[in-house]
Amino acid sequence: MKNTVRTNKPKVFIIGLDGATFDIIHPLIEKGKLRNIARLMKNGSWGKLRSTIPPLSPVAWTSFATGKNAGKHGIFDFLRREPDSYQMRFNNANSRCSKPIWALLSEAGKKVGIINVTMSYPPDKVNGLMISGMDTPGDESPFTYPLELYQEIKEKFGKYIFTTESGVPEDIDRETEKFIRGIHNEIKYRLNITEYLMQRNAWDFFVTIFLASDSVCHFCWKYTDINHPNYNPKMASKYANVIDNVYEKLDDAVGKLADSVDEDTTVIIMSDHGFGPVYKVLYINRWLCDKGYLKFAEKSNYRRLHRMFSYVKRELKKVVPEQFVEKRKELGRRKHKSQIMNPLYNVKWVETKAFSEGTYGAIFINLKGREPEGMVKPGSAYEQLRHQLISDFMEVKDPESGDSVVRKVYKTEEVFHGNYLDKAPDLLVEFNDGYDSVGKFNKDQLGIELEGGCLYQLNNWSGNHRLDGILITSGPLVRELGEIKGAEIIDIAPTVLYLMGLPVPKDMDGKVLKEIIDDDYVSMNPITFTEDTKVDHRKDNNYSQDDEKKIEERLRNLGYLA
Ligand SMILES: [Zn+2]
Repeated sequence: MKNTVRTNKPKVFIIGLDGATFDIIHPLIEKGKLRNIARLMKNGSWGKLRSTIPPLSPVAWTSFATGKNAGKHGIFDFLRREPDSYQMRFNNANSRCSKPIWALLSEAGKKVGIINVTMSYPPDKVNGLMISGMDTPGDESPFTYPLELYQEIKEKFGKYIFTTESGVPEDIDRETEKFIRGIHNEIKYRLNITEYLMQRNAWDFFVTIFLASDSVCHFCWKYTDINHPNYNPKMASKYANVIDNVYEKLDDAVGKLADSVDEDTTVIIMSDHGFGPVYKVLYINRWLCDKGYLKFAEKSNYRRLHRMFSYVKRELKKVVPEQFVEKRKELGRRKHKSQIMNPLYNVKWVETKAFSEGTYGAIFINLKGREPEGMVKPGSAYEQLRHQLISDFMEVKDPESGDSVVRKVYKTEEVFHGNYLDKAPDLLVEFNDGYDSVGKFNKDQLGIELEGGCLYQLNNWSGNHRLDGILITSGPLVRELGEIKGAEIIDIAPTVLYLMGLPVPKDMDGKVLKEIIDDDYVSMNPITFTEDTKVDHRKDNNYSQDDEKKIEERLRNLGYLA
């Protein structure tokens, strides 16, 4: 039993562990590890936290920040389609069509500290301080608020670390040590600046997000999973504990940070999505091509494209896009502003009904009146095509096991609602556990012939996101319920506002997680509502070409662009 609610000035501290899953946490706790996380679970309420569909960090962290589905906040992927073109651009916080919680809290006079939320560049002018996340092009960009904050951080802790800056090698098996070192550096750096900034200023709401738990699982899952097709006993004997070690280091950080807050503070440990293994990936555009939905240019180009592809891969490693652009021109294809971001240039649009873009199973219909060379009529032809695609996707089988590859295909309106559905894909493919897609700049989009069908094993990408993330919360206003069910990432923003005594915007999709909150507090504080928080995204929402290249390099290093 807790004492009566005493807190007059409730504060909330959120530690984000990107991609953290109970599938890793529970077994470690059973072994007596992760003492701090175990203690917070024991003293409060915890449960799975359902992510967004797709469970992709930019979408999920924006839903965390806004309490809304992507149809209202407008971010459906790392990438977005440019209107009236087939070109892709990178999203950042300027594409967000809703106020984030730190803006609402700042307006209400609360002091905030926001560190490293994905999709938060450029930083907002908050009442407090803010450091943008991995959508920041680089440390020469204005990514801190106030601007001079970076100088101070740099002097004390060195150059800012956005992600695991060591980058991901072409072959993870050859540079495992370096990669793991980078991951541990990220934890250390994030912990140091978080501790420092939490002490430096008074705050009412503080968020810090660690990415290490995500990165290590993407690349090292195969070392820990004997069923993984790329499981290599020799590597596994050396690296079987890499993921566990990262979780243990994160637990140390959680312990230090959670112990440093006062008794008026609610502590929330959360992730934006869960994690699981990837055994095989579907090359969606290749598959669409095989099924007759998509047509690539003449086959005679393939050899040439193949050569070019190897070249591009080499060059992209060095990030010399000008030369790449020159090479592309040699192919005598279209002219594009940002050549890199139109990898589907080898598609014959007039014969293409559907294509995949972005980083997570997004299918677009080549719709007349919307796409520049759209050929599918809106209305019944569009609906029929979506219907046919769904049933064809559901038929995709792994030839080796006979297992179904696709779990479900969503129509956009089944998942999203709001004013920004025009930015959403027409269909979203959700894969069964063990499968994933690569709709990225790669052989898939260039249309290069693959040997042996459309399902492949990737060596470097052995884990990917799952819908179930984590929520662990404890503090003066939180009940000791143990496991709870039904929490979603969109519930965090309204719950935080409620805990801090503020009204909840009417247009938030999430609910206040009342069941975890102290009865006395709930009976004394009815939930109140306030006006909508929709904002039109800022007009200058494009990165410069230079910045776009840096973002591309970072996402490539993180494995999102193969
Ligand atoms: Zn994530």
